[in-house]
Amino acid sequence: SALPYLTQGKVVKGFGRGSKELGIPTANYPDEVVEHLPPELSTGVYCGWASVDHGDVHKMVLSLGWNPYYKNTKKSMETHVMHVFKDDFYGCNLSIVILAFIRPEKSFNSLDELISAIKADIAEADRVLELPENKVFQQDNFFNGES
Ligand code: ADP
Ligand code: MG
Repeated sequence: SALPYLTQGKVVKGFGRGSKELGIPTANYPDEVVEHLPPELSTGVYCGWASVDHGDVHKMVLSLGWNPYYKNTKKSMETHVMHVFKDDFYGCNLSIVILAFIRPEKSFNSLDELISAIKADIAEADRVLELPENKVFQQDNFFNGES
């Protein structure tokens, strides 16, 4: 499998879908980062670890989908870091390790259903990342910029 997959890049503006208003901000990468993803990473929700500007390493959930903005010809990748930040971090480096697949992409009938699904994803990520084989990556030298 393609996992674990490590990557990093500068956080850019997303499509302003109002994720932040839902209480679930999602940080976007520039196209180059997404274009380098291994093709065998299927769309869906993943979990792993994330660090902003080589700071503390937090749990994250990541959604990989088809980008309607580019007529679904390009993948889009959005990372929700499971931490409350004082400020936005546009322009900062975001380093991530993608470790486990949570579920395939799906569409929802209402905003409430979408929010419930994301909350379930976050709970699942919280659990899966505590498994020793996943927890070790929180200390990975990748996050210090040493590898
Ligand atoms: P956009 O459409 O620009 O992606 P969002 O509403 O999804 O807007 O908010 C994402 C932005 O919020 C990120 O780029 C980042 O600067 C900021 N942010 C603050 N806290 C978080 C967090 N916990 N996880 C992800 N992004 C966060
Ligand atoms: Mg976003």
